[in-house]
Amino acid sequence: EPEPPADPLAQLNERQREAVAAQERAVAVVAGPGTGKTKTLVARIADMIEARGIKPAEITAVTFTNKAASEMLERLQQRLGGKRAVRSLTVGTFHSICLRLLTERRGEISLIDEYEALEIAQEVLEGLHTKISPKALLQEASRRKNGLTAGESPEGMDEACERYGGRLRELGVLDFDDLLLETLAELENDAEQGAAWTQRFSHLLVDEFQDINPIQYRLVRMWNRAGKSLFVIGDPDQSIYGFRGSDARCFERLEEDWPELRRISLLQNYRSTPEILRCALPVISHNDGPERMLLPQRPSGATVRLLTAESDLSEAIFVAKEINRMTGGIDMLDAQSLSGSSAQPRSFSDIAVLYRTHRQAQLLEKCLRKEGVPYLVAGREDYLADRSVRGTIGFFRFLLNPQDTASLRTWLRALEGCSEQEAGCIAAQWAASGPDGLSAPLLERIERYRPRAAKEKPAALLKKWGEENGLSAAEPFTRLTNMAAFHSDLFSFLQTLLLGQERDLVRSGGKSYASGAVMLMTLHGSKGLEFPAVFLCGLRRGCLPLESPGRPADIAEERRLFYVGMTRAQEELVLLTSQEPSSFLKELPEGAVETGAIGPKRPEGVQLSLFD
Ligand code: ATP
Ligand code: MG
Repeated sequence: EPEPPADPLAQLNERQREAVAAQERAVAVVAGPGTGKTKTLVARIADMIEARGIKPAEITAVTFTNKAASEMLERLQQRLGGKRAVRSLTVGTFHSICLRLLTERRGEISLIDEYEALEIAQEVLEGLHTKISPKALLQEASRRKNGLTAGESPEGMDEACERYGGRLRELGVLDFDDLLLETLAELENDAEQGAAWTQRFSHLLVDEFQDINPIQYRLVRMWNRAGKSLFVIGDPDQSIYGFRGSDARCFERLEEDWPELRRISLLQNYRSTPEILRCALPVISHNDGPERMLLPQRPSGATVRLLTAESDLSEAIFVAKEINRMTGGIDMLDAQSLSGSSAQPRSFSDIAVLYRTHRQAQLLEKCLRKEGVPYLVAGREDYLADRSVRGTIGFFRFLLNPQDTASLRTWLRALEGCSEQEAGCIAAQWAASGPDGLSAPLLERIERYRPRAAKEKPAALLKKWGEENGLSAAEPFTRLTNMAAFHSDLFSFLQTLLLGQERDLVRSGGKSYASGAVMLMTLHGSKGLEFPAVFLCGLRRGCLPLESPGRPADIAEERRLFYVGMTRAQEELVLLTSQEPSSFLKELPEGAVETGAIGPKRPEGVQLSLFD
């Protein structure tokens, strides 16, 4: 990496510079992938601080993931020369910013995660005679809190939602939706509080604005109501959270609420080769909307490949072997016989393997391990719902926040053999009389771990905890430990587990990744990122567009997901399909891809034992 230039506006094109310098009350940069929107946003913050003398304490930037927030802070720190300049900036996701605001306002708050919410939903439903599943209840409760009306509700849903809300209040906990709603309520009902918060939102910037939901939109409006500038960036073609209530029409609402809004578009794409854009643009053009244009700035590169495998298995085996070939790995002996191999071997971290659902990762992981490829997996995964993992997280969350009785209950139930009722009693006693409410052995554990929690790394704490509780050998617990290795303090680890978006939650594949690692993630998780080489897996019917029982696929949104995936690639894009190809593949322009078949014979050296 070359030294960043002193002038943050250097290295930007004219339009981008305009966006950085725009003085209008509200500015929206609406532009396609890889056009430098995020880069421009960062440059604008730097420019505000350096050239316009705006205090960092008056600037807030909202990102879609916590990872993106810390990367943004790092870049600014580099550019502005040191930590001090960025310390008072507010950068984070909607949820992390709201958590900070509410905690400042009310002291510690008990926030429950999706698993605790599921347990509460289950408990609520047990008392009702209904066929509603806990998951369906949570989805509906969330829709209602977000002001979305879904047609007819099944019988009993009204009551279930009511009871769920009541139970949360009884327990004194907030779920993720409440976190935003409560913040909004503070703003709307308490003018004084609103005013106190206004200052830090004087200059508000929002990345990935296309994925904002109605509540988040209201937060933006309230936060910046008395502010000086609003700067949002996004791309309606990359709106991929419609199922969660996000709505790309927020750009239009913006125009209504800020009639003086200035719109800026960017056309130059600095990310991908012309070959890649030539595939991506015609696909997204099948969605309604104005004509899409991206002007490739990169030199011409490799042709996009579309490969058909006989099964998911042979697809995964191919990916693993191909990665080894591209990185000059153990298959180097065969490399000479392969045409089209890039002159320079890639490093593992240049490569991403993307898929529609987490479930697809399993097979890929097995094949990558078999081939000795180091990898990282990003995303929320099933193991986080495991009992021992829940109990562990509960214990450590309680340790850091003694007011978090929801976590105390989770720990007691999952690992200390308490029934729901016993755990509830102990938690109530604790809330009323503190340490006197706990038995000696429980208290001893807490007292023993408390001083260590502040000093030791989460991985070391978990190791000890695992041994003490006989969890070390359990697969889900091991995965949790693999994730802990990425964090240097317990608080940030637990915070990530609690508030983490797809990309925030990363675990290693168990192998050393000193030389970098291939990134495995869902299409959703890949938003905003870029990689020199990208594999898109499972582009077959049922998988993309994803067909799930009881919910018709939103074809336009699935197409946007495919578009997001393709436009992550900088130099090399490999599309993989098997069985019946995805209907989207027909939308690739003729002659733009090189097609081929994988198999049919099982590649050498891969035995069935792989899947024992
Ligand atoms: P997405 O919609 O996927 O989030 P984006 O519009 O935010 O994309 P960035 O991630 O900011 O795009 O930029 C894409 C790449 O292009 C980055 O590697 C960035 O450094 C590079 N880039 C952006 N603008 C320029 C420029 N003017 N000159 C050279 N490189 C640029
Ligand atoms: Mg971006």
